[in-house]
Amino acid sequence: MEFASVCGRCQLYGDGDWRGMKQQFFKWTAWAGKELADLLFPPTCPVCGQIVAPKEERVCGPCREKLSVVKQPICKRCGKEVSEESVEYCLDCTRHRRTFESGRALLNYNEAASCSMAAIKYKNRREYLDFYAAAMGRRFGRVVRGWKAEVLVPVPVHPSRRRARGFNQAEELAKRLSRQWGIPVDAELLVRDKKTMPQRDLNPSERLKNLQKAFRVNPARACGGLWNCVVLVDDIYTTGSTIEACSRALKEAGVKEVYFLAVCIGHGV
Ligand SMILES: [Zn+2]
Ligand SMILES: [Zn+2]
Repeated sequence: MEFASVCGRCQLYGDGDWRGMKQQFFKWTAWAGKELADLLFPPTCPVCGQIVAPKEERVCGPCREKLSVVKQPICKRCGKEVSEESVEYCLDCTRHRRTFESGRALLNYNEAASCSMAAIKYKNRREYLDFYAAAMGRRFGRVVRGWKAEVLVPVPVHPSRRRARGFNQAEELAKRLSRQWGIPVDAELLVRDKKTMPQRDLNPSERLKNLQKAFRVNPARACGGLWNCVVLVDDIYTTGSTIEACSRALKEAGVKEVYFLAVCIGHGV
């Protein structure tokens, strides 16, 4: 909205005053819009789904207790909690070849986190990602700057799964992180070709085999030159097979450094 065509009387305020009033007006409408949105769609706890009060508290008290934030000491490769400071790498990272540099996750993948992640995916509670992205933004901003990240790349889901769900939760998370850090998202860089078997019942080497060749770099992107430093974004990191498969595809295509960020991370195997 422009105030350029104001009447003669109003021009008494001068340009500067009008600019100030305009800013105030936009601030007020943004605030009123948020108030109205909160009234119509009150924020809910991302774990139990109950309306939260007071509204500043994004997670309700009992659920806050249930979420377990990843604490030091952590595996220097995948960021998973390890038992003591002297342990450099978790068992998974010791046993399996890693081509990615390192990664970090916000929460330990416990029952509460698992319910919340499932609600995002299967009950279309995308708004829960606002809370996780804000927490990750605060916690990992400095880490990501240290990595000199150039682009955020969500781990793709198979197109048929995306169609059925209507969105890719990793992409939704990456967009929210991008808005906070000003790092672009490239959701087309990686392509998921093969529909993989459910990973749950497989051991880590079977998982990696299951995922090999599932991911490839989009040839249309590769022609335009690739990034030097990519940060993969996903909702859950369990044994690391998915991130490893993505990392191999990116490195084969010429990306020099690959890091990852996840909301949740499983415990060591
Ligand atoms: Zn709750
Ligand atoms: Zn590890």
